[in-house]
Amino acid sequence: MDSFEQLSRTRLLLQTDFGIADPAIIMRALFQPCILLVADQSIISTFAGQVAVSTAAMQCVRSGHSVYIDAPDAPLIGYQPPMSGRSFHEAIDSVADQLIDGVSIKIGKPLIPADIAFVFGGSFEGRVSARRVISVGCTNWSGSICDTPKKARWTATQWPMGALVAATLVAAEAFKITGRVLLPLSDRAGEFAPSFAPLREAEFRLCREDTSLCADIGNVDIVSAGAITNAALYALLRVPGIAGSGRAFDRDVSDHSNRNRNALLLGPSVGHAKVNLFASLSRGFQIDPVQRHFEDSDLGDLADRVIVGVDDIPTRWLLASAGVGWMGVGATTHFKAMSSVHYPLSGCAACLHPYDEPLDGPIPTVAFSSFLAGLMVVAELLSDVGGSYQFASRQTFVESLYPANIHRMKVPAIFDCPAQCAASQIKMAG
Ligand SMILES: [Zn+2]
Repeated sequence: MDSFEQLSRTRLLLQTDFGIADPAIIMRALFQPCILLVADQSIISTFAGQVAVSTAAMQCVRSGHSVYIDAPDAPLIGYQPPMSGRSFHEAIDSVADQLIDGVSIKIGKPLIPADIAFVFGGSFEGRVSARRVISVGCTNWSGSICDTPKKARWTATQWPMGALVAATLVAAEAFKITGRVLLPLSDRAGEFAPSFAPLREAEFRLCREDTSLCADIGNVDIVSAGAITNAALYALLRVPGIAGSGRAFDRDVSDHSNRNRNALLLGPSVGHAKVNLFASLSRGFQIDPVQRHFEDSDLGDLADRVIVGVDDIPTRWLLASAGVGWMGVGATTHFKAMSSVHYPLSGCAACLHPYDEPLDGPIPTVAFSSFLAGLMVVAELLSDVGGSYQFASRQTFVESLYPANIHRMKVPAIFDCPAQCAASQIKMAG
């Protein structure tokens, strides 16, 4: 098996959106970008710095780009699966060749100037050899990028969520190089050119900066062990002191075509049950693997909070019918990331999607969109356990290539809710 299969969903996304039939051209464009990630000792010695740089590197490789990390070594801080090792460089080496065949992460600088360099923390003193140099910043709950010489604000040290956002912005900006290589070959260039133009400045905030940094998430079930919940678990396992338990439901085994976006998946886990990967990596948040679809009989002992990554609409209806205290759903469509959050007396996931949309064939996906959707769900979960006291169901849509393009909407209950949720019954009675 090779990178052609491993990148098949990303290739499909570009084939579909750009209308380019020749897969070889798309593969060449995916392999083209040479990305340099730069961080000095003050950044790479922090947990947030290590999380931002390593996550950006892995996401870029999962889209086929070559990555160089120019950063000194430092002891590896905390638990950062799927990486392992005593030092940051060892951890990078542990995954470098396990993501996409023939594409790697190298420690050091490329021999020729990189297409784009990202300076994490913005205070690097050395010379950065790249055609474009971008400063990367993060706070506890937000990530940002801006063209140098302007410096992005970096304040996070221990909390990983903003660092994860920053990594996603980096991966999206790097991917635009591939997009700009392909645009001249596309009949839809005019439509897509604005999304693939360089972002001179961008910030994405997951939630209010004063949101509690809460690590005890209690009982949380996970339905699907696909890309969205890979991202969610990747983020949750990085929360310092994470504590909780739950089950993960999915009957599938990891496939090579998942390697473009499943953030916890490395080559050796292909062919094994997705839920077993979750269980084997879970520490602090203990996961009991259930290798089958979620069924009616599971509703009775569903956890207080449920993370849903399943695309199947009837399964979402079934889950919605349980009326749990908190339900978060993540999804993507093309370059858009979506999350929705549902509470017992407000619009449920079935109110939001009252019509079944049967899935037809492989779904086009890309690493950073799936990752952002999972992050958005986790931020909602952590806000809820931290006591955000919000009880109105809502939905968020973000263009992952252009995160200023964000839409937040309430999810009202509807009369003919397929899950006959409590909110729809109240509405009918009223
Ligand atoms: Zn409903």
